[in-house]
Amino acid sequence: MAIEQQARHPLGFLPTPVHALPRLSELLGGPRILIKRDDQTGLALGGNKTRKLEYLVADALAQGCDTLITAGAAQSNHCRQTAAAAALTGMACHLALGGQAPALADGNLLLDCLLGARCHWSGDLRKGEGIGEIAEQLRRSGSRPYVIPYGGSNDIGALGFVSAIRELRGQLEQMGERVTHSVFASSSGGTQAGLVVGRALFGLDMALIGIGIDKGEAGDAPFREQVLRLTERIAARLGLEPCIGAADVVVRNDWLGAGYGVVGDPEREAIKLVARTEGILLDPVYTGRAMAGLIAMIRGGELSGADTVLFWHTGGAPALFPYASALQSAPAAWQAR
Ligand SMILES: *Cc1c(COP(=O)(O)O)cnc(C)c1O
Repeated sequence: MAIEQQARHPLGFLPTPVHALPRLSELLGGPRILIKRDDQTGLALGGNKTRKLEYLVADALAQGCDTLITAGAAQSNHCRQTAAAAALTGMACHLALGGQAPALADGNLLLDCLLGARCHWSGDLRKGEGIGEIAEQLRRSGSRPYVIPYGGSNDIGALGFVSAIRELRGQLEQMGERVTHSVFASSSGGTQAGLVVGRALFGLDMALIGIGIDKGEAGDAPFREQVLRLTERIAARLGLEPCIGAADVVVRNDWLGAGYGVVGDPEREAIKLVARTEGILLDPVYTGRAMAGLIAMIRGGELSGADTVLFWHTGGAPALFPYASALQSAPAAWQAR
């Protein structure tokens, strides 16, 4: 079925704005930089998962489900947006969260609690390994749970980013902009897979560069393979001929640092630079790292004045607060400013 025919339950304020970052471009002496503000999707502080949830929630409602279950890290933006989507559609929400219950809920976790989600603490497992068991218990007690995978990254959720390309194409046409590259954080892969299929479907001619955020577990299929397989499932759902090749999925793993959710100097620098030149807040886990990658590519000469780059701001700022101590331990150069 074509993308226009896929069931979608409106949750976000779309389209999100696109605008230029002239002061950041000037400071870096690089290409023209545009930003796509998916931090402003509007659902309980916004973020990229809202686009996926529009399709996932529509599917849950069509199946007559009354409970959403998903999983993530304690500071998961995906879990927070899922909790909000459940609240506003009158469903219950259960979250399988990595780690142990902290003494005080902060950041996204505080918001999960305020939104009425039930949290299940799963120790070392933060990718939904225990979801099936929670769903089974809920079924036994008479609920109708709908399981949303880690990050909302299946062929239904990713449709949100197929549609996002159509939205962006219209905006760029109106603005008279021609984007040569788009850079974004890529972690569970649904955002990237949707963008790659959307680019093929809507004929937008720009390089899509995913910045890897998470090393993954030893033994996992390489992340790029996972994204490629997901693009095939999305294309099949949309009834498209196979149209994606391995070369269409570009993931740069040069900025993984000390691993998922660990803030280092590159993330700290990127967050402060964008805050101080443009008044825009990135996040410590995803967009801070993706922007550090973009800055490094500009400084390294991979992107030049002839290019126009679109940075996809995927949200995440609620996690700034629980990362307060990591964000303040700055190198001397920053202390001085
Ligand atoms: C989930 C998330 C991403 C990554 O999107 P995926 O579809 O999981 O690859 C990027 N940025 C933020 C803020 C996120 O919450």
